Amino acid sequence: MATIGFIGLGNMGGGMAANLSKKGHDVRAYDLSRDALDKAVAAGCVAVGSAAEAAAGAEFVVSMLPAGQHVRSVYEGEIFSAVPATALLIDCSTIDVATARAVGAAAAAKGLAMVDAPVSGGIGGAIAGTLTFMVGGSAEHFARAEPVLTLMGKAVIHAGTIGSGQAAKIVNNMILGANMVATCEAFALAQKLGLDLQTFYDISSKASGQSWSMTSYCPVAGVGPVSPADSNFEGGFASALMLKDLKLAVEAAQGVGASVPMGGHAESLYQAFTNLGGGGKDFSAIIKLLDGSFNK
Ligand code: NAD
Repeated sequence: MATIGFIGLGNMGGGMAANLSKKGHDVRAYDLSRDALDKAVAAGCVAVGSAAEAAAGAEFVVSMLPAGQHVRSVYEGEIFSAVPATALLIDCSTIDVATARAVGAAAAAKGLAMVDAPVSGGIGGAIAGTLTFMVGGSAEHFARAEPVLTLMGKAVIHAGTIGSGQAAKIVNNMILGANMVATCEAFALAQKLGLDLQTFYDISSKASGQSWSMTSYCPVAGVGPVSPADSNFEGGFASALMLKDLKLAVEAAQGVGASVPMGGHAESLYQAFTNLGGGGKDFSAIIKLLDGSFNK
């Protein structure tokens, strides 16, 4: 049994910490929210009063926080000075590549081992323990992180040096965002051209227009496998989170001088959709912006 400090017990972290506790580990949990802490205690974790307290005496520290500024302040302000020198630090939040690299470098300067390990799989995957982890860090640190991450996920992949997990995650989600927009505008156009959407799906899903967005997550209710479109776009992966990831991808691209016109355009469409009040809807609901039916 390992002692694990867990910081950030929200939609994702709550389920992940519960899975570590369920597998018999001593999880010392901290969140700013009393409600989140109470839920973690009900799931078998021990509530502590600060991130520093969660880190003290821990063999592993896992964090699942909103953004780069939270990760930087929690690690640099509390964890680095409290954690034992032998601990492994695992940040699972989705944050910008530059902050992941900077916090990783600050850990290394203090002789601490750290990996970035963002996830895909959403809230359902966090609860079920079926997340996919993309891990950035040295081979040695990856080997130490893998057994812990396996307790919360179905796949743990080494992406490269520190920050590479974040890079892989946002580049993957940039493909997904742009691809979903293309799939949605195609279905909206097919409808306006008078095609039956099931018939169009039957053709395109077996032709060169096929994609994951179409055949695993079709944005049209009643077409393809069950998806958020079948539940009025409730649940799933929120458009606001897709916007966050697209912003991170475009920002990272600017930092290295890469041209990402499709990613940039997807970002502006998700920004427009969020401005209109669609941020809480699944990201496939962007079809309603494109076919003009949102809020009508
Ligand atoms: P959330 O807002 O539900 O949870 C974040 C938690 O962090 C909150 O409970 C908040 O109180 C806590 N927190 C913030 N600052 C803190 C601090 N200084 N100390 C302690 N606790 C603090 O968000 P979430 O949906 O769980 O997402 C967490 C991360 O996972 C984000 O980076 C997000 O992009 C990423 N992610 C989310 C999903 C998803 O479907 N929700 C999927 C993949 C990745």
